[in-house]
Amino acid sequence: MPEGDTIYRAARTLDRALAGHVVTGFESVFPHLTRVHEDAPITGRTVESVTARGKHVLMAFAGPSAPSARSGEALVLRTHMRMNGSWHIYRHGETWQRGRRDMRIVVSTAGFVAVAFQVPVAEWLRPRDMERHGELTKLGPDLLAETFDADEAIRRLRDRPDAEIADVLLNQRVMAGIGNVYKSEVLFACGVSPFARVQALTDGQIDCLVRTARKFLRANVTEGLAAMTTYMGFRRTTRRDDPSERLWVYGRVDEPCRRCATPIRIIKQGRDARLTYWCPTCQP
Ligand SMILES: [Zn+2]
Repeated sequence: MPEGDTIYRAARTLDRALAGHVVTGFESVFPHLTRVHEDAPITGRTVESVTARGKHVLMAFAGPSAPSARSGEALVLRTHMRMNGSWHIYRHGETWQRGRRDMRIVVSTAGFVAVAFQVPVAEWLRPRDMERHGELTKLGPDLLAETFDADEAIRRLRDRPDAEIADVLLNQRVMAGIGNVYKSEVLFACGVSPFARVQALTDGQIDCLVRTARKFLRANVTEGLAAMTTYMGFRRTTRRDDPSERLWVYGRVDEPCRRCATPIRIIKQGRDARLTYWCPTCQP
């Protein structure tokens, strides 16, 4: 599953390419998207903004300018990447990095073509739907938001005393933005066992997890990282430049811990059997 920083970067790149520009073409393999396009065409509308909220990408289109338009409402295209979805941005005529059979949505402007590949969740929302949209309103504080509410995140964490901390970190209703890579990295950085129940953690440990999660995510959306499709090579938690040394534990099963040389271990954890990497010595 893409991490919050991936979605954030994708949304920012899409925003820079598309915002303020008029849509020249819209295409989708989803009938429920094209049906709206036939009634209230997306073509001719201006892209207002593209933003990330948790792992949702929200692409906002202004109401149609043509007076004959049957529906004058602004619309927001909500997409969620789940495990394999991604947005790419191309110049016209540029070769796509994925096959056409993976294409789900195409939004074109004069300058760019934005393509959603294998996005499993997509729907149109009216601005007023956003306030009461189940999946959007239930999201916990967004780790990448300027105004991150750490107290609220900690409250939601403490609200799940019996859960294992690794699972809680992935729960987007607690905090929005952490995926499987950061889950393992944040737990290592704070020396917390992935299997610890929330109730067994000190306030200092909880504080460390929340602060470190925000620090890692924000450090990986700094300016200059324009690549939208390959992330592992860029993501870094160790402050080391060597690409093979950028992560503490994730993807390093049986390799020596960077702090104590104990072999890193791996296990499938939680209801969704997500991979957890950890050092049994540093994270007792
Ligand atoms: Zn260790």
